Amino acid sequence: VFAPPINRLITELSRFPGIGQRTAQRLAFHLLRVSDEEALALADAIREVKETVGECEVCFNLATESLCRICQDDRRDGHVLCVVEEPSDVIPIERTNEFNGRYHVLGGALSPIDGVDPEDLHLAELIERASADGVREVVVATNATTTGEATALYIADVLRERAPSVSVTRLASGLPVGSDLEYADEITLGRAVRARREL
Ligand SMILES: [Zn+2]
Repeated sequence: VFAPPINRLITELSRFPGIGQRTAQRLAFHLLRVSDEEALALADAIREVKETVGECEVCFNLATESLCRICQDDRRDGHVLCVVEEPSDVIPIERTNEFNGRYHVLGGALSPIDGVDPEDLHLAELIERASADGVREVVVATNATTTGEATALYIADVLRERAPSVSVTRLASGLPVGSDLEYADEITLGRAVRARREL
């Protein structure tokens, strides 16, 4: 029905999470309606993040330099590491204002069915960081999903062996079971950070 360039745009937009065919069409027609300048600003913004944003070489959070802003910040407490699945999980925890330590982004959760094994995540780097001098606690803030829970137990086991002096804690319950961290509200998540328990 549409000219090939419009079809192409609709196809690209429909790849976004939560965007179905109809919404993709609406967005495409919106882009056709606005000025060239406005539409191309979006294209530019996409190009800029893809060209400038990479991974922090210490914690694997998003970073525009070799270290992310949290790793660069001397006021953060290096004695406590908070382990999350994805960079997007750092934001909700930061918003609670309950955590002043540093992060470690795994890059996913263990899921043998989907072919995600320990070596596919930043687990070796976590073990190395946790065994370093001064780390006292590792807070495991993986999602309250089957794979998130399995990952938490795996981390507790491996750190018990490889970094026995470090205490491994888990966010307290109260988070909706089966849910992703990024959808938790601040109050619930803040409470879960405060009331974390030993794993
Ligand atoms: Zn970092």
